[in-house]
Amino acid sequence: MVRKPKLATCSLAGCFGCHMSLLDIDEKLLDLIELIDLDKSPLNDKKEFDQIVDIGLVEGGCSSEHNVHVLKNFRKNCRILVAVGACALTGGVPSFRNMISLTSCLEEAYTQGPTHISGGEIPDDPDLPRLLDRVYPCHEVVKIDHFLPGCPPSADAIWFFVTELLAGRSPRLPPSLLKYE
Ligand code: SF4
Repeated sequence: MVRKPKLATCSLAGCFGCHMSLLDIDEKLLDLIELIDLDKSPLNDKKEFDQIVDIGLVEGGCSSEHNVHVLKNFRKNCRILVAVGACALTGGVPSFRNMISLTSCLEEAYTQGPTHISGGEIPDDPDLPRLLDRVYPCHEVVKIDHFLPGCPPSADAIWFFVTELLAGRSPRLPPSLLKYE
């Protein structure tokens, strides 16, 4: 039996919109399943890698120590790693907090902001992921092989990118496939 390439995906600090866009390839999902085997991914709820995969798609930047841990492990298990979407490429919307200190951000959210409940406090349960001083794009944490911009990248752009990689080419996204909403 011919071995199909393996694909994995993961989501860090993002909104899951890039994964939703991947699902928007609609009937091409059937073609995709013919072309690849899906390994670790939130789409199949598979939590661990079976083996090193050929292509990894990562959505979201790193906002917490947990994100960094997940991304480093993902990098280790992907031959080709693609940063997908503005959050992975630049930090995106979550990185708006980079304009102020982490302390100010937490105070605004939990104790000082107009919507805080009187007597609110900043959560410090040791089980919660520790936030980083700022949100980091993926390439500042691990080596990224390809960058797929967009918020989210369109389904057609994701399809183009994945099929180009499967064909052994380095994808050059046509401007017509760029999308920011
Ligand atoms: S790039 Fe846009 S769609 Fe993708 S995770 Fe970030 S905010 Fe969501």
